[in-house]
Amino acid sequence: MTRRSITARRARSRGSARRRHGASPFGELAASPGERGCAGLSQQARAALPSTAVPGDAPELDVDVVVVGAGMAGLYSLHHLRELGFRAVVLEQGDGVGGTWFWNRYPGARCDVPSLEYSFGFSDELQQEWEWTEVFPAQAELEAYFNHVADRFDLRRDIRLSTRVAAATYDEPSGTWLVETDAGDAIRSRFVIMATGCLSVPMKPVVPGEEQFRGQIVQSSLWPREGVELEGKRIALIGTGSSGVQSTPEIAKVAEHLYVFQRTPTYTWPSYNGPLDPEVQAETKRRYTELRKQQRETPGGVTSITGAIIMQGPEARKILEATEEERAAVLEQLGWGASRAWSDIYVDESANDIARDMYRTMVARTLDDPELVDHLAPSDYPIGCKRPVVDSHYFEAYNRDNVTLIDLREGGIESIDETGVQTAQGHFDVDLIVFATGFDAMTGALFRIDIRGRDGVLLRDAWADGPHTLLGLQTVGFPNLFTINGPQSPSVLANMVVCVEHHVEWIGAALAFVRDHGYSTMEPTPEAQQAWVDHSQAVSVGTMFTAESCNSWYVGANIPGKPRIFMPYVGGLTTYIEKAEAVADAGYEGFALD
Ligand SMILES: Cc1cc2nc3c(=O)[nH]c(=O)nc-3n(C[C@H](O)[C@H](O)[C@H](O)COP(=O)(O)OP(=O)(O)OC[C@H]3O[C@@H](n4cnc5c(N)ncnc54)[C@H](O)[C@@H]3O)c2cc1C
Repeated sequence: MTRRSITARRARSRGSARRRHGASPFGELAASPGERGCAGLSQQARAALPSTAVPGDAPELDVDVVVVGAGMAGLYSLHHLRELGFRAVVLEQGDGVGGTWFWNRYPGARCDVPSLEYSFGFSDELQQEWEWTEVFPAQAELEAYFNHVADRFDLRRDIRLSTRVAAATYDEPSGTWLVETDAGDAIRSRFVIMATGCLSVPMKPVVPGEEQFRGQIVQSSLWPREGVELEGKRIALIGTGSSGVQSTPEIAKVAEHLYVFQRTPTYTWPSYNGPLDPEVQAETKRRYTELRKQQRETPGGVTSITGAIIMQGPEARKILEATEEERAAVLEQLGWGASRAWSDIYVDESANDIARDMYRTMVARTLDDPELVDHLAPSDYPIGCKRPVVDSHYFEAYNRDNVTLIDLREGGIESIDETGVQTAQGHFDVDLIVFATGFDAMTGALFRIDIRGRDGVLLRDAWADGPHTLLGLQTVGFPNLFTINGPQSPSVLANMVVCVEHHVEWIGAALAFVRDHGYSTMEPTPEAQQAWVDHSQAVSVGTMFTAESCNSWYVGANIPGKPRIFMPYVGGLTTYIEKAEAVADAGYEGFALD
């Protein structure tokens, strides 16, 4: 294959000023090819780099490491790799940095981890100087934060925006990777780090007749940067996962009428978000060194410093051992928190049933219309099966006159026509349709890149029956390719900033080990990988995540044809970090170094 240098494309890249997002991560809604930008390792940057020859007649490396994705994982990777003396470049399909917080601009988009904890701890200067305004940060504040990180650490000179990676191919003789963009550019490196995100490939069902709709159709996760006119509109919101739940109250405030189309009711808890108390912020900053350490010592990477309800850990007590009176007292005392405040509800379905009743009681207390309770309180899957959603006055939104719930279990969507949404229950005239229909999680972004390892094997084929990794970091047959927050690591089950920092530092140390000990490649041994896959599955058995009635994106249930495998590591962040560090301390035990 003819290799076209990324440098050669630079002039065109600079010329293509882009007003909207970069190429969509979702094929069907991808920007037109002409709109796509291209990579460009700047000539200046390239000239400044000492060339690193690989053995024999092997091709010259452009950089040591290609990092794919400029979300928080890509940004910290670049900074850390530079500190370790590696030459790295970040390729990002969007035209801005921040990943999740760049793409998800829908009304109400907000983090469910307190801002003081959903932030980098690697630089004390950074954590001291940045001022958060709310307990739970909204999208705009997070996007601003990650842009500040990019500027503060001078990262932009090695980030190529509007550059979608289409393929990464391992060249066995030279032990190098050729990374190609969909604009036909290429870059060669020793290592590749996939920082492509766990929830970065939006999914949208194809509804017949969409093209006839005279109004506007948008997706929550690809929300146009210039905004969407919502005021006075009749709006259909399809999907009641996290994004749908977060946006319902915000859209309801301004819409003429909001129709919420629900397939599955969601367990969601109020965030009680509000302005961040300056004293709490100041005190946290004084204690940050200790708190960051504590984060890594908790299973979810959060220390509850702001005391928010959602972060309350389970009580040591078992709900099955409590009397009716004791349960009622906890319900009165904790309200919404009562349904999560027990140690046995995540591992015992009969305990979970009782907690579910408590949850239903709270839904009933919140809704004005008792007939809505059966529709909005989940009844056929356990608490803890899906990622808990955190909201700001979600159920209260249904008390408004301008909000109508359409329970699709009573008749599904059949088509979209010129004027709205046709369901088996009738037609709904609307001006705007919002799809909040989730993501191809964990493996989606990796499978959309043709990642070819030894013998030309595609990663998506190697993982056809589910992911196979060692620590979620590497896979047999794909030497020197690393994933941040890969499947079989804690990732989406914990505060992801803590997971990202740990992974970036672990990978950085591993790359330095390979380099400093004169090795060329690092790759798991088949035995060690199988042992981790088995362990990962074993710890998920008996939890609500893998209950028979649980159909979540954790098990790929939202994607037709995806193998039903529980993908994240549920053994807890602390245990995971201990295991990963033990592997490193033992000279990367379980990894073959050549
Ligand atoms: C709506 C929403 C809310 C969330 N809320 C929370 C929360 O409250 N707490 C929490 O801990 N986590 C939350 N998450 C998870 C969130 O994704 C992580 O916290 C974090 O942002 C992950 O960072 P990342 O850099 O690993 O991935 P991302 O932020 O997803 O960034 C990955 C980047 O890679 C780019 N990319 C992917 N494929 C390619 C390719 N082929 N070529 C070039 N670029 C590519 C993407 O465009 C994206 O910019 C949320 C996720 C979503 C979607």
